[in-house]
Amino acid sequence: MESVLNTNEPPSHGRKSITFKVNPNTNQMIATEINARLRTIRDKVESQERLTMDDGLFLYQPDVPLHEVGELADLVRQRMNGNVAYYNINTHLNPTNVCVYRCRFCAFRADLRDPKGYAMDDEQVIARGQEATDNGCTEMHIVGGLHHQRPYEWYRGVLSTLSENFPKLHLKAWTPVEINWFEFQTKNSTEWVMNDMREAGLGSLPGGGAEIFHPEVRDEICEHKANTHAWFHTHRTAHQLGIRSNCTMLYGHIEKAYHRVDHLLRLRELQDETGGFQVFIPLAFHPENTKLSHLKKPSALDDLRNVAVSRLLLDNIQHIKAYWIMLGIGTAQTALSYGADDIDGTVRHELIYHDAGATTPEFLSVDRIRELIIEAGRVPVERNTIYQEVIRDPNDFSNWSIGETLPVS
Ligand code: SF4
Repeated sequence: MESVLNTNEPPSHGRKSITFKVNPNTNQMIATEINARLRTIRDKVESQERLTMDDGLFLYQPDVPLHEVGELADLVRQRMNGNVAYYNINTHLNPTNVCVYRCRFCAFRADLRDPKGYAMDDEQVIARGQEATDNGCTEMHIVGGLHHQRPYEWYRGVLSTLSENFPKLHLKAWTPVEINWFEFQTKNSTEWVMNDMREAGLGSLPGGGAEIFHPEVRDEICEHKANTHAWFHTHRTAHQLGIRSNCTMLYGHIEKAYHRVDHLLRLRELQDETGGFQVFIPLAFHPENTKLSHLKKPSALDDLRNVAVSRLLLDNIQHIKAYWIMLGIGTAQTALSYGADDIDGTVRHELIYHDAGATTPEFLSVDRIRELIIEAGRVPVERNTIYQEVIRDPNDFSNWSIGETLPVS
């Protein structure tokens, strides 16, 4: 005898339901139903037909064999990006950790008078730029807190100081949360802020601040900062101005599968409209030192399923990144066979996830990254932030030039 388990809740675009037949003794989905649904999804993937909300909800069910979901995602990865895996040589800069907001998942922020609070001066920013340049970095990833007392000009100055002194360094800076704050500070539009920041040296936008878009979750974990509408408005504006950007999802806390699918489909919709996203980065939640420290962090199996389902649903975003800082090196390496084609970079000075208990190293050497990719059966290719191949001078590692736009067929 079978019973029916309804796993659904309303996603953002109206009520949507999916039911799974389960064995009443084990409460597990029955094998014939799993096989039939997987066959239908495989047919769609092979014929490059777009997957639906129901397909996404099904693929997230733990009873659906992970290796089969991974195999489907690997087909898509191979079709979209061939046998290469990308990495870059990059560094992080968090100009301040002082923040007016108190997101429940954040271990990085500090209060204004907190002894751990800091805000960098020009000298410290220039020292970081110099270190990055000396180490051959092509990119600086710049995000941080919203300091109660630092004016817009201070944030703008971080970019202009770096771009004037280190013009080759690509500045991937400010999430929509910061852009939204700058709009508040200057009383100007998103477009104005973006153009002004671009004049100061902004090269592209990182994907942060997305967390989970669905209000059932967002209102619980970060109700004060830039909302979902602001996040999309910022990225849409960036894309319209010709500024490329990345996108993320912070998963593994209080959200359910339908919140993840809803999140991914919203990203897919904007990408249909603008085509401006380069890469999607699933970010595994790390609970330590956060207000959600009672939660467990997601398992490696959940991490891999999430990479795979993202690859399958986001059929219009070229790259999926396995961010080794959050996944751990082993899982990131495995994710290269579950849909990911990018492993991020060498990364220096990452604070945000290490403050939340990430146990990964602070830095990986280029040799180590290349070795990890080769071990995973892929060909390592160094890219810059906007996915152009980087050509290194064999006699001087810190000297580099730009080759072709990737992926090259
Ligand atoms: S996630 Fe960002 S906005 Fe939220 S508290 Fe942390 S630093 Fe502030």
